[in-house]
Amino acid sequence: MAKPMEQITWQELEIGAVVTEVGSARQYHTGSWRSERPVVNKDQCIKCGVCWLFCPDISIVRAAEGHFEADLTYCKGCGICAKECPVGCITMVGEEE
Ligand code: SF4
Ligand code: SF4
Repeated sequence: MAKPMEQITWQELEIGAVVTEVGSARQYHTGSWRSERPVVNKDQCIKCGVCWLFCPDISIVRAAEGHFEADLTYCKGCGICAKECPVGCITMVGEEE
């Protein structure tokens, strides 16, 4: 029978969201936490890279056409890129939409 929660010590907890092996951070697919995702209007993007600079998760990548977009495997949907984009071409859209 499993122990009641109040009897479990911190040493028995499973390690979560901790990088235990060098180079393993890529295995954390943090995009599964997201409730909203950034959608870039490619036609309005001036390719300045400000979104890339501000993204705290290094989730912004440069697309082949030169504009920037979110890598949804890692983007947590914080909305910072949308807030900082100088031309306002990033819209946060609910994941259900
Ligand atoms: S929403 Fe947040 S995590 Fe996702 S690309 Fe924009 S700044 Fe990065
Ligand atoms: S900040 Fe906005 S205009 Fe600049 S690269 Fe990102 S999406 Fe494009």
